[in-house]
Amino acid sequence: LFDLRGKRVFVVGHKGMVGSAIVRRLASEDCEVVIADRDQLDLTRQNDVEEFIAKQRPDAVFLAAGRVGGIHANATYPAQFILENLQIVANVVQSSHANRVGKLLYLGSSCIYPKHAAQPMREDMLLTGQLEPTNEPYAVAKIAGIKLCESFRRQYGDDFISVMPTNLYGPGDNYHRQNSHVPAALIRRFHEAKLAGDPQVVVWGTGRPRREFLAVDDLADACVFLMKHYSDIGFLNVGTGQDVTIGEFARVVADVVGYTDELRFDTSRPDGAPQKLLDVSRLTALGWRSKIPLRDGLAAAYADFLAGGGRNID
Ligand code: GDP
Repeated sequence: LFDLRGKRVFVVGHKGMVGSAIVRRLASEDCEVVIADRDQLDLTRQNDVEEFIAKQRPDAVFLAAGRVGGIHANATYPAQFILENLQIVANVVQSSHANRVGKLLYLGSSCIYPKHAAQPMREDMLLTGQLEPTNEPYAVAKIAGIKLCESFRRQYGDDFISVMPTNLYGPGDNYHRQNSHVPAALIRRFHEAKLAGDPQVVVWGTGRPRREFLAVDDLADACVFLMKHYSDIGFLNVGTGQDVTIGEFARVVADVVGYTDELRFDTSRPDGAPQKLLDVSRLTALGWRSKIPLRDGLAAAYADFLAGGGRNID
């Protein structure tokens, strides 16, 4: 067991959706949270990261920083996606090792799995097939991050772990009109349709693809749990273990937002993968379960959207 009490805990990426949820969750732990603003610390610069970690001397690190985005952003900026994510994990892992950080938790993404992986996806399916080409540079950087943590554990005994979250939603999400993921996209679209009195709202695709959605505050709770209780080579999936169709999901979002008119499924838009569901049996065997029901999590996300807490709400 890794005890967080009295520890200095560096949350890297505290402005992001995941990092800010981890900071919220750590408020109920008896620890001291360390953060660095972007103008204070450029995570892509090795010297700056080394100096910051040597000076701050954290006992634990949550690595939730990285360049992220949807299919459009990944296609437009592949060089930045691979380079910056590699730089950030290399700099933080290396400096954490050099400064004897007691525990590090690295956040990956479920896009590390092969495009045609059988469902639900088990941790041992990593590197068993071709990746989805549209986000391959990002996925390769994330896989390299897992292997960095594994290798430092193997060679030096560093207690560095990785977790792979499923599709996330919640406070602090990105509401960009082109680059957002489906939860933020639909919250915004239904909200605007409700205000405008539109009789019909468009949902992309057939509505038949299946996705697993996890509230970001559930993920943060899992991360704190795993930092305390998990210490092993490899990585762990984090999800709810249940998926819904996009059609079902859209109806829950509409309900939460209070949009009562018609949904139109635009089949000229891509469906993407038919199903994305993580196998979370290793996580549940350790004793952690998702606690936030979809409807409650979406209500929290919508409240935050209304309060202006998201990004790119223009
Ligand atoms: P994915 O899990 O990588 O496919 O991520 P997305 O969140 O972008 O899309 C999930 C599913 O939601 C796909 O089947 C999309 O076609 C569908 N979808 C429906 N409406 C929207 C929308 O307005 N924006 C996005 N991004 N996806 C949508």
